[in-house]
Amino acid sequence: MKFALVTGASKSIGFEVVQQLAQKGMYVYLGSRNLESGIEAVDKLKAKGLNNVEVIQLDVTDNESVLKARKEIGKKTKVLDILINNAGVYGGHPQTALDSTIDQFKATYDTNVYGVVRVTQAFIDLLNKSSEPRIVNVSSSQGSITLHSDPTYKYYDYKGAVYLSSKSALNMYTVVLAYELKNTSFRINAVCPGFTKTDFNGHRGTGSVADAGKRVVKYALIGNDGPTGKFFSEENNPETGEIPW
Ligand code: NAP
Repeated sequence: MKFALVTGASKSIGFEVVQQLAQKGMYVYLGSRNLESGIEAVDKLKAKGLNNVEVIQLDVTDNESVLKARKEIGKKTKVLDILINNAGVYGGHPQTALDSTIDQFKATYDTNVYGVVRVTQAFIDLLNKSSEPRIVNVSSSQGSITLHSDPTYKYYDYKGAVYLSSKSALNMYTVVLAYELKNTSFRINAVCPGFTKTDFNGHRGTGSVADAGKRVVKYALIGNDGPTGKFFSEENNPETGEIPW
């Protein structure tokens, strides 16, 4: 059996990813910063017959919480095969380059960038023990500097200095991480789930969580001949999925 950890998974896209991985027979640790919400989420999955799911308290902005989660999971499994860095925040308003505050940047980067660094570094030893380790950093096409410089990009006018730049930073972290692990069996990619109807955007998204989940899970289960160090958004490139950084 393979073991997976999904951060920010008590609801929305993260929850759906846990569900789809569990349906495919993985044993999944459902990371939730709020333990009660995580327990409720696991109960929902168990009610559907998915017993291969377990809650783990994990706030990606809190070093102690991350290290405690690593310790707890380490008591139960010697190997982690899949890490999905899904937890993310938008960062509030305003998001203009001239008016967003340093505190907004710090809080958003703490989750979207440093959170991914914390969790990845804490779990890398367990991932190293897998024969097919996979990391999916849940990014956004909104973090593509190339697309956001192209007036024909469908979200060209959806600018947001805080959120967009946090995903661009996450993208570069993904590139560097994949580079450092290029001579291993790791496959590490940045994946955009698409503009999805969740609390994240007040349910204004146009896609379903089911489709978003599939897009993420695809790269969690990619074969050893699959890509690494790439950026995918099926919404923006339905053919190959790959999009420019
Ligand atoms: P969501 O509905 O707001 O859910 C976000 C999840 O992340 C929640 O479970 C939240 O926990 C958790 N979270 C936030 N801060 C956390 C922290 N410090 N530690 C641990 N968990 C934390 O968002 P979503 O739409 O599912 O988005 C998931 C990911 O997809 C994000 O990375 C987002 O940037 C990305 N994305 C979303 C869209 C979209 O259209 N929805 C598009 C592109 C990319 P609480 O429930 O405790 O708040």
